[in-house]
Amino acid sequence: MNTKKAGKPAVKPATKPAAKAGAKALQKKPIGLKSQEKPAEKPAPRPAGPAPVRVKRPSNGAVKVGVVGCAGRMGQMLLKMLINAPGIVVVGGTERKGSIALGQDIGALAGADPLGISVSDDPSMLFETSDVVVDFTNPTATIQHAQMAARTGSALVIGTTGFDNDQLNSLYRAAQRAPIVLAANMSLGINLLQQVVEEVARILDPDWDIEIVEMHHRAKIDAPSGTALALGEAAARGRGQNLRRISRRSRDGQVGPRIKGEIGFAALRGGDVVGDHTVIFAADGERVEITHRAGSREIFARGAVKSVLWAAGKKPGLYSMRDVLGFSVQRPQASTPTP
Ligand code: NAD
Repeated sequence: MNTKKAGKPAVKPATKPAAKAGAKALQKKPIGLKSQEKPAEKPAPRPAGPAPVRVKRPSNGAVKVGVVGCAGRMGQMLLKMLINAPGIVVVGGTERKGSIALGQDIGALAGADPLGISVSDDPSMLFETSDVVVDFTNPTATIQHAQMAARTGSALVIGTTGFDNDQLNSLYRAAQRAPIVLAANMSLGINLLQQVVEEVARILDPDWDIEIVEMHHRAKIDAPSGTALALGEAAARGRGQNLRRISRRSRDGQVGPRIKGEIGFAALRGGDVVGDHTVIFAADGERVEITHRAGSREIFARGAVKSVLWAAGKKPGLYSMRDVLGFSVQRPQASTPTP
């Protein structure tokens, strides 16, 4: 029976040598083995009815991590970071059927030393083996992976974006049986910025005008960026408003004076800028500007690694980067206790 509380770190990160020793032990065994100590056993047939919820706990050593979509841009970067991360052992990686990466060594794929583990197209085996699986693929694949997480109890860290409402509902259902971290932007800085912007907007009175400026590389096709809109939502939340009612997406020509309370957006494009965002709070005589600049995709991978360590051994539930970073908004408690 689980006696640990949700939200409490479930593992003491292993030291790097311990993690390496674990990795070596795993390399000698096929991917189907569930732990480093026990030999592989054929699972007993599952009785009829819903399967029991399993809260997976890392063994007393490192957290066993699998990467689905490991040959993608994020997948490769993530593999490299996970291989070097203390307290983590990479136990496998998958790719879609037909991918040229199948059969390649996942260490070599990440530009690191070979690990003796080949890229596979069997995610179910990976979920059986892993404490935590990280997913930067596409919405259709991620839904299948979430169902596997629900069956095995492995934690799932999802960076994939672009889910429709039905797919989001599937994720909510899977999260009843497995811990799932879902974050459309895993950069720690942007998640922190959202929180700060919400707080600043709450504190400052409506005489302070709010404007959001973003800049991205010349190939970006949408404007304003999704992150700029998320920052606008955070500011609107802080003011108790709905962004849709108060946003000013562009200005051109004789637009007249600024309307009090609106949140304005400006999008710049050029060069190879990964993503800059500035939220400006402007009043008479003073201005507060809060900026985030993304230098590379590594910031997303770093957030994913942090999520992996956080999610290992958590109770089933749908979590966000706010939970991972420990600044979840406190909801007011009901005054009368429920039976
Ligand atoms: P990518 O196309 O380079 O990588 C996706 C990989 O998934 C590919 O290698 C593909 O073959 C693989 N794949 C597809 N179906 C699969 C399946 N069924 N099983 C295993 N692998 C499968 O894309 P990317 O740039 O790495 O981005 C991936 C996703 O992550 C996108 O949705 C993107 O928007 C999102 N993303 C999120 C963040 C964040 O911070 N949350 C950051 C960057 C990208």
